[in-house]
Amino acid sequence: MIYDGGCLCGAVRYRIDGEPLSAGYCHCRMCQRAAGAPVVAWVAFRRGSFRIVKGEPAAVRASPRATRRFCSRCGSALTFEYSSSTDTVDVTIATLDDPNAAEPVYQIWTSSRVPWLHLESQGPHFKGDPPGSPGAKEPSFPPAGRAGSARPGPTARRR
Ligand SMILES: [Zn+2]
Ligand SMILES: [Zn+2]
Repeated sequence: MIYDGGCLCGAVRYRIDGEPLSAGYCHCRMCQRAAGAPVVAWVAFRRGSFRIVKGEPAAVRASPRATRRFCSRCGSALTFEYSSSTDTVDVTIATLDDPNAAEPVYQIWTSSRVPWLHLESQGPHFKGDPPGSPGAKEPSFPPAGRAGSARPGPTARRR
């Protein structure tokens, strides 16, 4: 499937030719600052399925672990990629031309969730990184059914 998206000003456009692997909310402080928003919804794709088709996003390594790309003209946060992984790229769901294309099914870094934000996500919640991501501290996803049936796939990765 083809997914198109881009930044606010239109200077950067991207295209994804592939299927979403997982999608979730991240409440970490770096996502909050990068997007200027209380939470960021991400969808992961195989890195090879993602390409920039217009413009050139700027990149910032806010931590040694990952690179974030954004439009240098309008500031839209676009992607997140772990430095230690070449498998996946996370894309901000809100920059897809059709933000309904993916729906978050879990939440991570709830330890820095702003208390006035109430999300109805049914999926598992993690105080920090999800299992399987570089630096993950939590041992495993909760058993299916305990925190809801929706859960990310085995390739789920977040910051
Ligand atoms: Zn832009
Ligand atoms: Zn984050």
